[in-house]
Amino acid sequence: MQRLPGALVPPPQPVSRSAESRGTTADEIVRVAVLGSTGSIGRSTLDVIAASPGRFVPHLLAARQSVGPLLEQAHRFRPAWVVIVDPDAAATVDATSLPPGTRLAVGDEALDELVADPAIDRVVAAIVGAAGLRSTWAAVAAGRTVALANKETLVMAGPLVMRLAERTGATIIPVDSEHAAIHQALCSGRPTEVARILLTASGGPFRTRPAATLADVTPAEALRHPTWSMGPKITVDSATMMNKALELIEARWLFGVPAAQLEVLVHPQSIVHSLVEFVDGSVIAQLSPPDMRLPIQYALSYPRRLPGPARRLDVAMPLTLDFEPPDPARFPALRLGLEAAERGGTSGAVLNAANEEAVQGFLDGRLRFTDIAEVCAGVLAAHPYRSDPELDELRALDAWARQEVASWASV
Ligand code: NAD
Ligand code: MG
Repeated sequence: MQRLPGALVPPPQPVSRSAESRGTTADEIVRVAVLGSTGSIGRSTLDVIAASPGRFVPHLLAARQSVGPLLEQAHRFRPAWVVIVDPDAAATVDATSLPPGTRLAVGDEALDELVADPAIDRVVAAIVGAAGLRSTWAAVAAGRTVALANKETLVMAGPLVMRLAERTGATIIPVDSEHAAIHQALCSGRPTEVARILLTASGGPFRTRPAATLADVTPAEALRHPTWSMGPKITVDSATMMNKALELIEARWLFGVPAAQLEVLVHPQSIVHSLVEFVDGSVIAQLSPPDMRLPIQYALSYPRRLPGPARRLDVAMPLTLDFEPPDPARFPALRLGLEAAERGGTSGAVLNAANEEAVQGFLDGRLRFTDIAEVCAGVLAAHPYRSDPELDELRALDAWARQEVASWASV
């Protein structure tokens, strides 16, 4: 196994002095910027913050256009800043509707500048989709500590982001529950002692539905996840298992492991959040009920642990843990994720953009459920692959892939 990249703090034994000086001792205040505060992860982050008043202080809340919910959050949490990225939505805000002490900033550039503020101890990157790359990049470029929910950042530009973090001294702590579990399991050995990493997947709502009927799946059916409550895009990704495909790529870059050491294991109860097998055969897992408030809090308090609002495992209840291999015929997206994790280069950005556009096409009724993986496979195969792209090339290919899918969906 390759070494863990410097940007991901190797799981520590005792808390280091440098970690303590970054606002992680038991009694220090942690100032938090929540990017995407009105979304599912954003709201769960504010739950975690509210459960430890005086410990976590929301410094900045940002959303694209949901002005009403953002202003409600501003009145409740009194951040120094609220940022509305969409200028048209921001134009509807009356300055007197802000609470005293909270200032309004508008647009992407303002967000880039504000996340770089050294007063911020943790940036929670919880904007959905490729749109999250820009502000995450700005936070990493400024050397901030990033609690990363936006997996698309690493799917699109993993090597560039990890290299940037190494240069600036930024730390990236995963929020994705599987990666948070792996981050914790890796404490049990050295990077060279890891044999393989098993990412668990619930299997989504169609784990047992006859494969021949998958073409008829409706958006309402795909949006009903059996174990997790999440935003619409990631919920559809869970139904196609593209979410797990993206998570394989995320793990590839975050932990610096070759794709050959990454596997997916279907676990319908969503209690075991991932497993690491070491060379001696020991398998270390992290268990908890499916509740994102735990990995969010882990990323806010790391390397410390705190009591918090997440549901706890009730061992007085019967506990059944099932595991099975995924069915590649039913979930062709998984193969695309492994391929992109193996090839790297431009593959992740193209797969991600094609998928975002195809999910939108499915939700709008222009594509069938089974078209999502098929369209992604076609765009991935047709794209002009490059092994070591710059950020501008990735942005251009993102736009190209979306265009390809749009023309497919309009046929
Ligand atoms: P969501 O759709 O519920 O919320 C998205 C948030 O992003 C909203 O606050 C929205 O205003 C904001 N946003 C969207 N586009 C924006 C833009 N251009 N500029 C600024 N803000 C913008 O999404 P979610 O389910 O909370 O997911 C957020 C991220 O976390 C995704 O990358 C997802 O893959 C990841 N994630 C989510 C979960 C989960 O349980 N929901 C679990 C693991 C990882
Ligand atoms: Mg996940």
